[in-house]
Amino acid sequence: MSEKMIQPVRGTHDLLGEEYRKHQWIHDVSYSIAQKYGYEPIATPIVESTAIFKRTIGETSDIVGKEMYTFDDRGGDSITIRPEGTAGVARAVISNSLTQSMPLKLIYDGPMMRYERPQKGRTRQFHQIGVECFGISDPLVDVETIALGAQILEQLGVAHRSILEINTIGDTDSRKAYRQALVDYFTPVSSHLSADSQARLAKNPLRILDSKDPKDQELIASAPSFDHYLNDLSQDTFRKVCQGLDALNIPYKRNPLLVRGLDYYCHTAFEFTTTDLGSQGALLAGGRYDGLVGQLSGPETPGVGWAMGVDRIALMLDQVPPQPRPIAVIAIGDETMEAAFQLAMSLRKQGIRIELAYSGNVGKRMKWADKANAYAAILLGTDEIAAQQATVRNLETGEQNLVAFAVLKDYLIDTFK
Ligand code: ATP
Ligand code: MG
Repeated sequence: MSEKMIQPVRGTHDLLGEEYRKHQWIHDVSYSIAQKYGYEPIATPIVESTAIFKRTIGETSDIVGKEMYTFDDRGGDSITIRPEGTAGVARAVISNSLTQSMPLKLIYDGPMMRYERPQKGRTRQFHQIGVECFGISDPLVDVETIALGAQILEQLGVAHRSILEINTIGDTDSRKAYRQALVDYFTPVSSHLSADSQARLAKNPLRILDSKDPKDQELIASAPSFDHYLNDLSQDTFRKVCQGLDALNIPYKRNPLLVRGLDYYCHTAFEFTTTDLGSQGALLAGGRYDGLVGQLSGPETPGVGWAMGVDRIALMLDQVPPQPRPIAVIAIGDETMEAAFQLAMSLRKQGIRIELAYSGNVGKRMKWADKANAYAAILLGTDEIAAQQATVRNLETGEQNLVAFAVLKDYLIDTFK
């Protein structure tokens, strides 16, 4: 087998050890906080019909245009590995007739795939945790959703290294007016735009504002501001969001260029960003998407949500809370191994984390217990077994005691909790 065959596919990697534990911790913290806000877990398939993403994310987006893993399955249907979670969750809401039981608060997580140029904080397979709240158009819910993200980042210890940027992209009428203003502004200078932005100018001019191309950015800097084109409803909605954040003491910065890459967004757009990860600064991004469920032929349903990049958050974590340390069970001589195994199994069933030294002399087994970071060792010789007791040695202090099997579990819990 060639070297290349035993490497993971470019842009993907194995999750193990400390990195896996970081992912798991991020998951546990997010789900436990979201539950307090009334969110219920949902899991959708990792593939959807390609049309689901084309319809919702939009043909002019980077995701649909360049990044999707799309293939015909053996029956000839066009299938796409999900590049993000919102479209699938919205599809599931419709498929399961959940539009009858609004409002709905859903949380999901899992791997996503986008064909991108791999670099730090940007991989082809990455993980997101996302929340979606359907059925409420009150801007209070936008505030609540942002607050949920803020609380999760706070609990994970990365809040102080990120800032919340917010913007409004208004309602459909405001966007229409602003789109025209952008067309009027960019058309005369279109030859100075990047090729991508020239295409955007024809199809979706708002997306030019999102461009990272330095040539585009110069022109973007003096582009007309959205604020002049927001109607009263849009302004009022945005004001309520800002007031809500103020009332909760959640700091934010207005970023008028934050437009989000997806077609179904309206009103509130937000992103928690960091400068700690180079140009891969977006940690958690979302907004309001009142058009989404309707776009998928469901009943018109307001919605707001966000998705968090788990891998990027993991890169920012120094440490996860330490694992509970084990207790080692050590047979003194092979003849007590079977009894040691029985004891280990019984203590595990009683809820204690046990590592068993499988082979070697006592010295080797003790070294092994050290390596496993055990905080105590239970030593079992033939004498101990005859007396139905064990020697329990505290590996930090060296102190040891003889403890009867009958009270061993309680002794361990009391002494080493
Ligand atoms: P970026 O501007 O960095 O490409 P995006 O706008 O494409 O981000 P979203 O579609 O909003 O990202 O996805 C939500 C979050 O998922 C991002 O804020 C980021 O943390 C994470 N994310 C997106 N793409 C990747 C990737 N290729 N690798 C790792 N994380 C990613
Ligand atoms: Mg992207």
